[in-house]
This record gives sequence, C-alpha cells and structure tokens, in this order.
Amino acid sequence: MKIKCPKCKEDAELTMDFSLVKCGTCDLEMSYGEYVKFVAHNESTYSDILGDYAGKTEGQSSGSLDEWD
Ligand SMILES: [Zn+2]
Repeated sequence: MKIKCPKCKEDAELTMDFSLVKCGTCDLEMSYGEYVKFVAHNESTYSDILGDYAGKTEGQSSGSLDEWD
C-alpha cells in the first residue's frame, strides 16, 4: 500500500505484511518499525518546538522525567 515517504514526502510503498517501507523516489528503505519511530520522532520534535511557545511549565512535567532517567 502507498504511504508517505518521511524523507522526500513522495509516495512510498509499504509491503503487504507491514515489514518494509520502500521509496522509489529517494531510495529509502527501512522496516515499518523504523518508519514509525522516524515519523514519531519528527512529530515529537515538532510538538516540542510548539510546546516551547505554548508554555514551559506544562511541557516540562512529562519531558523532564525522561531526562532524569
Ligand atoms: Zn522518498
């Protein structure tokens, strides 16, 4: 099935068994697990940026737990 390539934003192909993501445009090839992490990382980076503007106190309560680990 077609999904969005996280790298070049073109159409990438996800294999039927959800094991591999392949993009013919930029030659991206990664497992679906890596793809999910890649997208999630990009989105969390994006919301971190937004969080900085929205208010420091709320964003830090959850984020600081990871850093103390
Ligand atoms: Zn691509």
